[in-house]
Amino acid sequence: MISIKNFINGSYCESLTKDWLEVINPSNGEIYAKLPNSNTQDVHEAYLAAEKAFHSWSKTSVDQRSVILAKIAELIEDQMEILASAESMDNGKPISLARAVDIPRAAYNFKFFSQAVTQFYSESHEQISDKTINYTLRQPLGVVGCISPWNLPLYLFTWKIAPALAAGNCVVAKPSEVTPYTAFLLADICNKAGLPKGVLNIVHGLGKSTGQAIVEHPEIKAISFTGGSETGAHIAKTAAPMFKKLSLELGGKNPNIIFADCDYDKMLTTTVKSSFANQGQICLCGSRIFVEADIYEKFKKDFIKKVSQLKIGLPSEKETDIGAMVSKAHLDKVLGYIAAANKSEATVLCGGQKVSIKNGEKGFYLEPTVIEVSSNNCLLNQEEIFGPVVTLMPFKNATEVLEIANDVKYGLSATVWTNNLKRSMYFSEHLEAGMIWINTWMQRDLRTPFGGQKASGIGREGGFEVLRFFTEAKNICINYE
Ligand code: NDP
Repeated sequence: MISIKNFINGSYCESLTKDWLEVINPSNGEIYAKLPNSNTQDVHEAYLAAEKAFHSWSKTSVDQRSVILAKIAELIEDQMEILASAESMDNGKPISLARAVDIPRAAYNFKFFSQAVTQFYSESHEQISDKTINYTLRQPLGVVGCISPWNLPLYLFTWKIAPALAAGNCVVAKPSEVTPYTAFLLADICNKAGLPKGVLNIVHGLGKSTGQAIVEHPEIKAISFTGGSETGAHIAKTAAPMFKKLSLELGGKNPNIIFADCDYDKMLTTTVKSSFANQGQICLCGSRIFVEADIYEKFKKDFIKKVSQLKIGLPSEKETDIGAMVSKAHLDKVLGYIAAANKSEATVLCGGQKVSIKNGEKGFYLEPTVIEVSSNNCLLNQEEIFGPVVTLMPFKNATEVLEIANDVKYGLSATVWTNNLKRSMYFSEHLEAGMIWINTWMQRDLRTPFGGQKASGIGREGGFEVLRFFTEAKNICINYE
């Protein structure tokens, strides 16, 4: 059995509690590792190490930090195969996806911020009439907390850590207790890359105890969190009285709006991906599909045909399109929504059943599921399911679909398929979402702002936005009269 350990002050260590949690391989339901069930004292030890390291790390030159981050990126690339199999085993995602997306992106997060920080700048404002010049310093915050979810484990963990370190902060981080393995492996990579001890500390354990201890720590200056909206609200409530900086990347219930004038084949192929990639466990998945009435029946037939061809299988197999759901608890939650569909006016058009896979009989497999709904005002269209489940609904015109697309508490992303330029511009302006894709999905440029509106969060990650988040602006005004 693999023994996952905390990483504090440059060394792997057990929790002071000597208490362990089990890590389950979702492809076969077996326990394959144990991880520390860390407590407040473990988090404090991590904080002390980070605080000690901060003085020198925050004074290192941008170039020195950049070199270390680039080296981490290089070592992640070197260990692509090990990390991809670890991610696939831990999360249940097809290994092909971990190889093509998760691990390359984790490397690129470090590479990107190793470069971005060398281009980061601050402002200066001159008032000739008053003979004053203002300039703004962007100073690192100190010790910051980074908390990430289980769906894209190393991808999202590094998406926070890389900019935090690049900006000169030291970090206390916690991956999801459900998928801790690649974060554990990253620690060794950071040591090999020459990251000074104490600059990055990783504490494993449960969200409600270990994660909560990070949020509650009075000296941790900022929390960068990705996870569910309910957890985000709880974190905001805990952190606000301490005036911590907060970046909250939360849930989504994203509309995928398809007009009859779109490039049909491209739309169809992309819509299968935007519905079911990573078993639908991506916050950006388009889980509410609205199709213009003229092409609704054709789309329904073609989409179901393509979805039925997706291969559900062991994550380790090359041909697998749909791997295992992350955990039994999550599978049961998603099945609960499908059961609700069966009891309401919704119609399950395909999927909806658990699947037994050879050599993975105890794994957590679910068919990709398409449900037709008659109204946007139903549980299936209002709550985030976060699994391989999408709903279909026809619409008559742009006014109607815009209204229902926005009629949800979330506002993370939206996709629109159309070749009408005026309509694209209109929807870009009026859709309530932080990120809009026109005729594409999940094409990412790391320089752009990433985040949501409404219950999908506050703040933006990516590019200079996140470097601003991880720094304190201090303005200096000089009078030179
Ligand atoms: P959770 O909110 O349950 O957990 C996210 C992380 O927070 C985990 O590490 C969890 O630990 C930890 N956590 C839980 N409770 C607390 C607490 N009280 N204090 C501090 N930390 C805590 O989300 P999931 O892991 O279930 O992830 C799925 C959610 O993430 C979905 O809603 C999805 O939409 C959202 N998400 C949003 C993205 C975005 O960019 N907007 C991207 C990806 C996912 P543990 O797991 O150990 O309990």
